[in-house]
Amino acid sequence: MSTLDIELVSVSKSFGPVSVVKDVNLQIPKGEFVSILGPSGCGKTTTLNMIAGFNEPSLGDIRIRGKSQVRVPPERRNLGLVFQNYALFPHMTVAENVAFGLRMRGTSKSDTEAAVDGALRSVHLEGFASRYPRQLSGGQQQRVALARAIAPRPSVLLLDEPLSNLDLKLREAMRVELKEIQEALAMTFVYVTHDQEEAMAMSDRIIVMWHGSVAQEGAPSEIYSQPKSSFVADFIGRSNIWPIAEPSLKSSYLEFSLGAGGPLVRAKGDGSLLENRFCCVRPENIKLLSPGEDGGGDDRNLLWGTLRRVVNLGAHLELRVELGPDLVLSTILRSSLAGLLPPVGDTVLLAIDPDDVRILAS
Ligand code: ATP
Repeated sequence: MSTLDIELVSVSKSFGPVSVVKDVNLQIPKGEFVSILGPSGCGKTTTLNMIAGFNEPSLGDIRIRGKSQVRVPPERRNLGLVFQNYALFPHMTVAENVAFGLRMRGTSKSDTEAAVDGALRSVHLEGFASRYPRQLSGGQQQRVALARAIAPRPSVLLLDEPLSNLDLKLREAMRVELKEIQEALAMTFVYVTHDQEEAMAMSDRIIVMWHGSVAQEGAPSEIYSQPKSSFVADFIGRSNIWPIAEPSLKSSYLEFSLGAGGPLVRAKGDGSLLENRFCCVRPENIKLLSPGEDGGGDDRNLLWGTLRRVVNLGAHLELRVELGPDLVLSTILRSSLAGLLPPVGDTVLLAIDPDDVRILAS
């Protein structure tokens, strides 16, 4: 018996001449919460639809629990589905909506009642069974859709942007709930989203897609701290990304200038990185040194710049610092430290640890 719930083997999909998914390989083990994350049009939904059976791959194979699904219709794949437009039946009560899939399968009345009760408990909607969808908030309706999908106990739940119709506060609350529900049920979730915060908050693993291919996959912390390309560095979180000019090796460091004629910067690395073209530094890894603070005595990069703008983000301030022509970086500072800031237009000194400078291939 395969411990993988889902496997995509060299899967490609074209619509006419347009290639939408290109040679994607994925392995999703049982019980994992996996997000497929990427910008609009990168092929996320098409990938999910192929797993669901709504689209057939043009090339490659899709396996569910080790078995090829070629020509297996959606209803025989034992998958649950939750979409953005959760389309509850308005003339049915919550319990009838949740029971719908089970009734279609011919499940007995007592088993259906037990499954409906269990599913409503899982989504914290006990006591709502006899209400109609119009008597529920948007978040409650989405939880009914979730209960409807999990009631038949599918081994895998496919979710396509299920929270995008909800307002921000509710979306944030639902992220936590969804993760808790997934853990409690020990069910495999494959979750499509273009929202990187959503993916970071819930996933065991994120698959970042771009132009139909997998740009990178890994644990959220790994994708955030070790992006492999400027696309991933830019798409996940905030980043300063610069082209590298004239790289050279200095013992265990790669030394280069930021763009042509920019300041010299060192990153930890070896000769294998000499061909790479970009570097990135997360704003939180750039430290503003206080006047008189000793920036020397270690191997940190010290950069002089001019404070150009301070943007209030609530708990944090974003500082925009100009290092040279067309070379502006952003860093963040806790708002409680605002008193330490010099006036806009003054010179500031910044420190970056070479370990925090990521070298990117593309
Ligand atoms: P979004 O976040 O906007 O939903 P996505 O990453 O889910 O985007 P897909 O819906 O998979 O992207 O679409 C990928 C590309 O394939 C898009 O350019 C889309 O126009 C195209 N596409 C999707 N379905 C079809 C179809 N049935 N016929 C032709 N082109 C299609």
